[in-house]
Amino acid sequence: MPTPSDRRKAYTCGFHPERGEQADFCPACIQEHETRLSAESMTGDERAAELSALMDRPLSRPFDLIHKRIEELVGRPVWTHELGLNRDGLIEEARNRPRDSPLTPAEFQTKVMAPLEATGKPIIGVVVDDPGDQL
Ligand SMILES: [Zn+2]
Repeated sequence: MPTPSDRRKAYTCGFHPERGEQADFCPACIQEHETRLSAESMTGDERAAELSALMDRPLSRPFDLIHKRIEELVGRPVWTHELGLNRDGLIEEARNRPRDSPLTPAEFQTKVMAPLEATGKPIIGVVVDDPGDQL
């Protein structure tokens, strides 16, 4: 099974340039993820700054850790296509979005679906019935 070091070129971690070139995920970044601040305790500007840095620097930790942190900073589930299509909108949400408020259907359409629809590519939706609904 390939490891990250089999697939990527050496890079310099944008958060820890003092470590020099690395060929695998940055141990310092992974350690920092484990001891990260609660997004709820941060100011909006701090959340926006961290999100911007995460999105603009080379991938220095496993994507699942970055995705989890982005969702913490934004305060809602974030679809992966949003990372490429709505970078600035996500940063503004991290800065200003009320915490712990789910997306309304209108917000879901505007923030999640509209950027995807704007690509002009077909969208396929899958609805899975929850067996719990039939009880
Ligand atoms: Zn690092």
